[in-house]
Amino acid sequence: MKDSRIVEVVKKIIEQELVGLMPSSRPIPIGVSGRHLHISREDLDVIFGKDYQLTEDKPLTQPGQYAAKERVTLVGPRGVIENVRILGPVRSRTQVEISFTDARRLGLNPPIRDSGDLDGTQGITIVGPAGSVTIPEGVIIAKRHIHMTPEDAKEYNVVDGEIVRVVCGDERKLIFDEVLIRVSENYRLDFHIDFDEANAAGVKTGDLCYLLKKKGEVKVPEKREVVRRLVTEVDVREAEEKGLKIILVKGTIITPLALELGLSKGVIIDRR
Ligand SMILES: [Zn+2]
Repeated sequence: MKDSRIVEVVKKIIEQELVGLMPSSRPIPIGVSGRHLHISREDLDVIFGKDYQLTEDKPLTQPGQYAAKERVTLVGPRGVIENVRILGPVRSRTQVEISFTDARRLGLNPPIRDSGDLDGTQGITIVGPAGSVTIPEGVIIAKRHIHMTPEDAKEYNVVDGEIVRVVCGDERKLIFDEVLIRVSENYRLDFHIDFDEANAAGVKTGDLCYLLKKKGEVKVPEKREVVRRLVTEVDVREAEEKGLKIILVKGTIITPLALELGLSKGVIIDRR
């Protein structure tokens, strides 16, 4: 890009995106999450023994959630990370949340996802005292997010699913964009980031941040990528119209015509 063109683009970003942003008057506490996993009953049976019960070590800020005493080892294609905490209680699916730095060490390339959105992600081997399990999918880098109650949402003038910015830090002050708002009666106000993000801004758990928003602006995210198990020409044409990308994962069935069309239109992301 030519210099003059870059200046134009930057000007546009500032005018459209940044002018008018106001910090919230009430701060939000920061909660930094270390690497951890949520585990299913079935997988816990395999790695710790049948009907094993997790031992609560300390409660987390979100009600009902706790850090367990139990630790496991993660084994990736290129490296190993020991002493990884399990968070309880057990969930319906095992989910491993790591940072970009961890992913490098393990030799994985996980997507940035909301909790629970695991389709098409990579798997990993989890080793415990009683055995090991290799999950076919479930490794993510958590999308940064703020938990809050409906009352908080009212006060901050945001809705569930909205994307906001957050400013935090002092000597390494940083504005985080792409921060997802998550609203539930069961949540407590907390801005969740991982250690890569916290270190970049020089902040730690308990520090405060401020939500940045323009008056009256609501940015609800649209899903830009969909995972499909069966893809036909119709799906490809539909995705093109909607501006979506279709992700092919291990086990996806796609017709030759759909594949050719999808690749030529740039609609297909092949992760098989
Ligand atoms: Zn969270």
